[in-house]
Amino acid sequence: MKTLPKAVYPGSFDPLHNGHLDVIERISGMFDEVTVTVFVNASKTALFSADERTAMVKAATAHIPNLHVDQSQDLLVRYVRQIGARVIVRGLRAVLDFDYEFQFALMNKRMAPDIDTLFILTSEHYSYLSSTIVKELASYGADVADLVPPACQRRLIEKFGVGKRLERDGE
Ligand code: ADP
Repeated sequence: MKTLPKAVYPGSFDPLHNGHLDVIERISGMFDEVTVTVFVNASKTALFSADERTAMVKAATAHIPNLHVDQSQDLLVRYVRQIGARVIVRGLRAVLDFDYEFQFALMNKRMAPDIDTLFILTSEHYSYLSSTIVKELASYGADVADLVPPACQRRLIEKFGVGKRLERDGE
């Protein structure tokens, strides 16, 4: 019988949000082992350090037994091969994601023909969610409790100050 291979879900996770967590929970049911890897990309300015991002992913995924959390600065396909995985998982929200993800996957396939990229569609209610939107809302003091796991909410409050609810009644 064929066993399902190990998969890697790479990303910036700056910070992890509920759309990421939904993908992680779904793929951890599909593979024997999943590694979520926080990648440090020198060309992107992150709000949280790699260690902070990794700690948030660990705290939010502690309930998933077949999941590892790691961080890397290596070339993705080299990293994937080094940990003995053969599948890269990427999430797709909208057509907007597709161009970049398609190019990225084809380039990875060219560099490492033995490694495949698996795309997983966002759940409908997370299709609008991105780390950029979460940071933007948190920077205005908006409540992001419905958008991110509690560990990420705490870190966002530490960065931006106490979250104020956007009360409609002017309280
Ligand atoms: P990157 O900088 O590598 O794009 P992100 O942390 O923004 O890293 O995203 C990591 C992965 O999660 C990407 O494949 C991205 O498309 C996917 N993703 C981001 N937001 C969502 C969402 N709301 N639903 C499903 N997948 C998502």
